[in-house]
Amino acid sequence: MEVKNFINGEYVDSHSQKTIDLYDPSTGKPYGTLPASDGIDVVQAYQSARKAFESWSKTKTAERVEIFHRIADLIEKNQDRLALAESKDVGKPLWLAKEVDIPRAAWNFRYFAGLIEHHLDQSAKVGQSLSYTLNQPMGVAGLISPWNLPLYLLTWKIAPALIMGNTAVCKPSEVTPVTAFLLGEILNEAGLPPGVCNIVQGNGADAGAAIVSHPGIPLISFTGGTATGERISSLAAPHFKKVSLELGGKNANIIFKDANIKKAVRGSVRASFLNSGQVCLCGSRVLVQEAVYDEFMEQFIAEVKNLKVGLPSDESVFMGPVVSQDQKEKVLAAITQAKKENGVILCGEENLDIPKENQDGYFIRPTVVADLTDCSDLWQREIFGPLVTVRSFKYAHEAVKLANTSPYGLSASIWTSDLSRAHKVAHEIEAGTVWVNQWLKRDLRMPFGGWKQSGIGRDGAEHSLSFYSEQKTVCINFG
Ligand code: NAD
Repeated sequence: MEVKNFINGEYVDSHSQKTIDLYDPSTGKPYGTLPASDGIDVVQAYQSARKAFESWSKTKTAERVEIFHRIADLIEKNQDRLALAESKDVGKPLWLAKEVDIPRAAWNFRYFAGLIEHHLDQSAKVGQSLSYTLNQPMGVAGLISPWNLPLYLLTWKIAPALIMGNTAVCKPSEVTPVTAFLLGEILNEAGLPPGVCNIVQGNGADAGAAIVSHPGIPLISFTGGTATGERISSLAAPHFKKVSLELGGKNANIIFKDANIKKAVRGSVRASFLNSGQVCLCGSRVLVQEAVYDEFMEQFIAEVKNLKVGLPSDESVFMGPVVSQDQKEKVLAAITQAKKENGVILCGEENLDIPKENQDGYFIRPTVVADLTDCSDLWQREIFGPLVTVRSFKYAHEAVKLANTSPYGLSASIWTSDLSRAHKVAHEIEAGTVWVNQWLKRDLRMPFGGWKQSGIGRDGAEHSLSFYSEQKTVCINFG
């Protein structure tokens, strides 16, 4: 697999011809390369995007909508190929890529195609003065995405940016570049004019930072880790760029004594370990009310021990490997640290049943750690892998305090049958999304984003349209 940059509608190498190796997480072996792009490639992509902006920003909405539906159709037509590529690149089960990642990538285009047709500007009249708003495209958008949901999250940025009339320079994660590479073909086939969407592959410190600091790129949408978000903020600040940051999380998953325990167990297992725990919204801090702690934990641990870990292509597998050797080492180091901090490993050390040729793959069993203190680094720090920490609490206010004692504020889940408790706790939790008796359900019309160190800004429906445009008020005297 030889990944290329996609600039001005053409596949090209980086100007330096340097490449980065691409690894298959299920074998730990290289299976391709991607361009190690840098600032010069970014400038080339920018110039192509800037040129395309002149006509794309004036294209009729109906024409953009038509192209978007064709892109969505083609993603669906190529679903098997894209799902296979995503599964191989990330190590996620093929069924998950087929059920979630690829359909959602198609839906991102359809959703914003539909939304723009119903988008209304505001108007207000006072006396003989009529004011109305215009949401105008800003130019070239810089879109930087992570590796956990590669095509899903990249298209969640491309679609609103382009539908508003911007053009884009994108930088997918260097760990999982393949579906973004394949998207280029689809964009061409759908008739997206050359230069409207450019994809520069490579490292964050080179290609990513060059996008963020390019003076001609007025808006940056970034999804990734909090530490990277901090670097991006400081690079973008001197240019007064509009910046959206969707960052990390260490989300509380709270089980109250009046919860339906069976449902809470099933939901908590998914919230802990879907995509090998590599979803920013995973409930990696599990809090269980004392009265049901033993009952919940007995069922929870039994189910976690039952989860099948194996090859992403195996339809019966719940978890594949983690994405990279770095990620594997990070999770294993966290388990070692948990032991040093007198944490009790409740499961995770069972043998893995992996074929011989996959022994160097990045497989880790889902791991549950109990008895860490509140100030333990592991209780606070995002690990982003198949590792959750568990503890009990006595009173609801204690659970809220524990949930909020975190630098993050991305999401939380509450399991309870008491509606007034659900409302009260949801109100008190400091997070962008709070689920009650479910996890991961997303209504794209709703704002999505993080409190505290989990981000700045909101995505979703009008929030995205507003981010990817600049607003102007026109005020007319008609007297
Ligand atoms: P990361 O921050 O390492 O990388 C994300 C992207 O930023 C990659 O494309 C990377 O190349 C690029 N990058 C790195 N350094 C850069 C720099 N200096 N300038 C510009 N770009 C740079 O994150 P990751 O490891 O790919 O993803 C995991 C993280 O993403 C986790 O913290 C997870 O919680 C977070 N995440 C958040 C959300 C959300 O919606 N809040 C969604 C998914 C993932």
